[in-house]
Amino acid sequence: MIPPSFTYHRPSSVNDAVGLLAGFGEEGRVLAGGHSLIPMMKLRLASPANLVDLGAIADLKGIRQEGNEIVIGAMTTQHELIASDLLGKAVPLLRETALQTADPQVRYCGTLGGNVANGDPGNDMPAVMLALNATYQVARKGGEHRIQARKFYQGAYFTALAPGEIVTAIRIPVPPAGHGYAYQKLKRKIGDYATAAAAVILTMDGGSSIGSCAIALTNVAETPLYAEAASRLVTGSKLDAATVKQAVAAAEAITAPASDRRGTPQYRTKMAGVMVARALAQAAARAKGA
Ligand SMILES: Cc1cc2nc3c(=O)[nH]c(=O)nc-3n(C[C@H](O)[C@H](O)[C@H](O)COP(=O)(O)OP(=O)(O)OC[C@H]3O[C@@H](n4cnc5c(N)ncnc54)[C@H](O)[C@@H]3O)c2cc1C
Repeated sequence: MIPPSFTYHRPSSVNDAVGLLAGFGEEGRVLAGGHSLIPMMKLRLASPANLVDLGAIADLKGIRQEGNEIVIGAMTTQHELIASDLLGKAVPLLRETALQTADPQVRYCGTLGGNVANGDPGNDMPAVMLALNATYQVARKGGEHRIQARKFYQGAYFTALAPGEIVTAIRIPVPPAGHGYAYQKLKRKIGDYATAAAAVILTMDGGSSIGSCAIALTNVAETPLYAEAASRLVTGSKLDAATVKQAVAAAEAITAPASDRRGTPQYRTKMAGVMVARALAQAAARAKGA
């Protein structure tokens, strides 16, 4: 289908972009890679009168380390996440997740900022950001502030962003060297959104106990979910079978998946538990150097 008509704007600075958006109010929308928004417009599920394309703003690109944080510009593509040596070494969970997101053609255009700001519970990066305890840097006319990823997602396509605000960068605390990580995603085919997926990041305390653990879930509720109780159960344990069972039950208990072509709510909840168990095992094996 052909989208409704709109006026296209291509500012070259963040200031100009937020200035335009402030003037448009509800009639303006940010365009990043366009791989979620344009399909929505073609289906007439979104019909913004003004599209503000962030593609010419150089400040929104790039991946760098600032002290103990990795800072990723919002317009960095998913392909650039995969290609980054810095991320491959410091936060390999991002590379692993990007490789399971959509397909190469989408990843050349789709951006990290678009993926985390979209608010679609099917997007893969938000749960990863919850597990990593990332913070989003946000600009608006006349100012800038930060929002923790764990406080950002409020409902399907409903986030803590106010009208006229844009995510400019994603800030990730660098996990300790030797940490374990995994993103386990069940999908029907390459390029599909998750039936259920789990992100895990953990550290070992000495040889066999878990020093810290964070677990988050994709596409099993209206928002990505930080599985706080499950994470707490694993922390300090030896990740024995009984603990994994308890953590899986705690993660399953917070899900509320929709029924869709990917399965019934009961099936998707159970698959979330299976993904948690697999991600925990893989992350622990990596942390132990296995
Ligand atoms: C065939 C196909 C398969 C896909 N499969 C997956 C998948 O498996 N997993 C997955 O996670 N995604 C998947 N996607 C979505 C893809 O990853 C999108 O590109 C991504 O979710 C959105 O990024 P974008 O840069 O294209 O954003 P856009 O489509 O340009 O924007 C998406 C939304 O976010 C807003 N936005 C964009 N950037 C910002 C910003 N910096 N600040 C504030 N708001 C902003 C826009 O206004 C819009 O509302 C798929 C897409 C397609 C077409």
